[in-house]
Amino acid sequence: MDQRIHDALVNYTRDLYAGEDAVLQAVHLEADEHGLPRIHIRPEEGRVLQFLTRLAGVKTMVEIGTLAGYSGLWLARALPEDGRLITLEQNPEHAEVARHTFERAGLAGRVEVRLGAALDLLRDLTQEGPFDAVFIDADKGSYPEYLTWAIENIRPGGLIMAHNAFLHGAVIGMRERNARDINAVQTFNRRLADDVRLLGTIIPVGDGIAAAIRL
Ligand code: SAH
Ligand code: MG
Repeated sequence: MDQRIHDALVNYTRDLYAGEDAVLQAVHLEADEHGLPRIHIRPEEGRVLQFLTRLAGVKTMVEIGTLAGYSGLWLARALPEDGRLITLEQNPEHAEVARHTFERAGLAGRVEVRLGAALDLLRDLTQEGPFDAVFIDADKGSYPEYLTWAIENIRPGGLIMAHNAFLHGAVIGMRERNARDINAVQTFNRRLADDVRLLGTIIPVGDGIAAAIRL
């Protein structure tokens, strides 16, 4: 499809289904104020995450890579009132901004921001699982390790999702990126295709939402 038409259709979809309310917009302002990088998911990706989360009947969920809480807000809003999102972040300033985000949204009771290196925090989280879903969006080089954790700690029928499955094109050699990240995300995507414990695909929205059902 013509690139111009494709972009217009993305805008059409975003405008129809993924409009940002004041709370979501405020996350961008606060993130900018604190000089946080603008590497959050796009609204239309957030909507897809919500769709899948509801479809899978998710109540308990882990997010790896919080930043300012933008994706966490989309996710938490898809959970039932007694649902729970635990989101992991190693940067103290990011975690602080995110805590404000969830307070402002009235979701502080549903969301817990945990500070630390994700692989360490995940090790402890194993005792609190199994969980219904995970959303992976932290350091790309660790995606295979995050997937290993997910396969062991997401219940059968549960959902594994990851952002940046396309690595902006680097995953097929059409963009520059360090070899470690490329290898890791290629490995991650390949395992979603090959592992018999998973039914996976990449939903080609934004930078690619990898998604798998834990069979
Ligand atoms: N999911 C967010 C964006 C996350 S950006 C959104 O869409 O709104 C990636 C985040 O992961 C950054 O805040 C970064 O500090 C954090 N991060 C990177 N490596 C990490 C690690 N090993 N453990 C925990 N957090 C990590
Ligand atoms: Mg991302």
